[in-house]
Amino acid sequence: MNRLSGKTAIVTGGAVGIGRACVERMAQEGAKVAIFDVLAAEGEALASDLAAQGHTVAFWRVDVTNETEMKAAIEAAVGQFGGLHVMVNNAGISGSPKPTDQVTEAEWDQVQAVNVKGVMFGTKHAIPHLRAAGSGSIINLSSIAGLIGVGNLAAYHASKGAVRLMSKNDAVTYAPEQIRVNSIHPGYIWTPMVENHLRTTSPDLEAAKAAAGSVHPIGHMGEPDDIAWAVVWLASDEAKFVTGAEIAIDGGYTAR
Ligand code: NAD
Repeated sequence: MNRLSGKTAIVTGGAVGIGRACVERMAQEGAKVAIFDVLAAEGEALASDLAAQGHTVAFWRVDVTNETEMKAAIEAAVGQFGGLHVMVNNAGISGSPKPTDQVTEAEWDQVQAVNVKGVMFGTKHAIPHLRAAGSGSIINLSSIAGLIGVGNLAAYHASKGAVRLMSKNDAVTYAPEQIRVNSIHPGYIWTPMVENHLRTTSPDLEAAKAAAGSVHPIGHMGEPDDIAWAVVWLASDEAKFVTGAEIAIDGGYTAR
């Protein structure tokens, strides 16, 4: 409780999945939380549920690929909550699974727009407010796909590799201003993204879920809270000496 009291956080892609768990855990730890997402119904419902429980949470409809929307929403959240301390660049899409020689330019560009440009816009427009606060934490969702090859998901791998090194570059750039930047690399986490992916690649969802879980040495998939607790830690002053780190939370997937 109260590990994040006095802090304001923004979570992009915060309406469902990993982002939703980050919103819930950070709010429960005392942060004021702004949810940015294109899913307005889900985002509004989450904000009002958490507000009804006594937390300070609000939703903004933001497409992270649109710089004007991102800048305006960050300024609105800062205006409403009185500052910014934590930016979680979580919004992401997987793209269609297919080998590189089948990927269209439009498919490639869409994945880079959300997963790479979205992180850049979030970082760019959060920095002035983190600087004004005197310190800050930027947490970028990469993936095991930003560390190793899994196969048949070229645009996603390229995007998550980019996020890994954007995080390290920004960690070095902003460390003198006490703004920390770290990347998280989840294995398979049971969210709408993974469920949709498995539905399109297998006729038997339960069998596909078990198979996807079994590739992790720990024997099963993770859950959104497995990531959210790391986000709470990185957002908190407990992690004040942690920057430029790449944190794999993958049930041992990349330990081999
Ligand atoms: P999800 O699809 O379940 O949720 C993603 C959220 O991002 C949704 O609410 C969606 O509406 C939002 N979003 C998508 N495009 C957006 C846009 N242009 N603007 C604003 N919001 C947008 O995904 P998830 O599984 O919760 O993944 C969250 C992050 O974690 C992603 O960056 C993903 O690549 C990464 N990740 C997930 C897994 C996994 O197994 N679930 C593994 C590794 C990395």
